[in-house]
Amino acid sequence: MQDQKDSDEKVVLLSHGAGGILQEELIKFVTSSATVRKVGEGIGIDAFDDGATVPLTDSDYEIVMSADGHTIHPLFFPGGDIGLLSAASTINDIAMMGAKCIAISSTVFVEEGFWFSELEKIMKSFNDALGSNGVALVCGDTKVIPKGQLDQLMMSTTGIGFRPKNRYIADNNVKPGDNIIVTGPLGDHEAALIANRHGIDLKTELTSDVAILLDMIESLGDFEGIHAMKDPTRGGLASALNQWAQQSNVGISLNEKEIPIRTEVRSICDILGLNPYHLASEGKALLAVDAEHTQSVLEALRSHQLGKDTIIVGVAQEENSGMVLIKSEYGGTKFMDSPYGEPIPRVC
Ligand code: MG
Repeated sequence: MQDQKDSDEKVVLLSHGAGGILQEELIKFVTSSATVRKVGEGIGIDAFDDGATVPLTDSDYEIVMSADGHTIHPLFFPGGDIGLLSAASTINDIAMMGAKCIAISSTVFVEEGFWFSELEKIMKSFNDALGSNGVALVCGDTKVIPKGQLDQLMMSTTGIGFRPKNRYIADNNVKPGDNIIVTGPLGDHEAALIANRHGIDLKTELTSDVAILLDMIESLGDFEGIHAMKDPTRGGLASALNQWAQQSNVGISLNEKEIPIRTEVRSICDILGLNPYHLASEGKALLAVDAEHTQSVLEALRSHQLGKDTIIVGVAQEENSGMVLIKSEYGGTKFMDSPYGEPIPRVC
């Protein structure tokens, strides 16, 4: 059918799925005809946040909800597999809203001929990750697709949790003066996956950082002083911070030498001409925290295994609203642009 259309008809590109400006365009396109876009005063589709909120009437709580699709290749990668990734990304997105995921749904699309032994490994990863975090698998669906019409397996998950209505943690809530905190080295997930696909021998073991952040985030207690949290997945640090800067109307100023990127990740980027600030992490969080509470937040994060390398990378300010600036070690300043859409498919 598509072959019969005019050759200048606009088509979906791989870059539309890469977590950058083009992806935002695709999301806006597929949601443009939705007439009801949020529930009451809750966070809805236009917020582009990690999740949505559904305020409950006559209650001090609201539902936090997040959905993901996973089409990673290969299904088993250094440090994890699509099962763990599916659990982590939904639980983490809800954690980034200041809520604990309590229930999840799972839909599995599987290609005819896929081995049950592989399916068992993937579902064990997924279900073990839910169980060890106290998350219930409550519903789902399975679909089998004829051979050749799907590459092996894809998964889709939706999770829900609750948070008090007065706990406002959101992408549009970063304030001037907030410290910008990163919980560890960035880009490991996408770099490990790309190295694996390209057969790049790093001499050292680089693995995906895929991890469930719930326990670490819960150690923050009542979230006092925390204005925003975000996991820098597709589009990496640059995409996440540009969203904060634009939605919160602040400038974000970063110190380049503080931004944690492993040598192996930088090497992969050098070899393939990639920007390390655009690479996805799957087990890291960014936090915007007021000055008064920064020290206690740093201590809580650093005392957790997943946050031991937590560091302040910059600060939010009134100047340069909507932009992310990066100060180099040598005194220069440049913009950290949001990625347009690097066409590296199937990283999450
Ligand atoms: Mg997220």
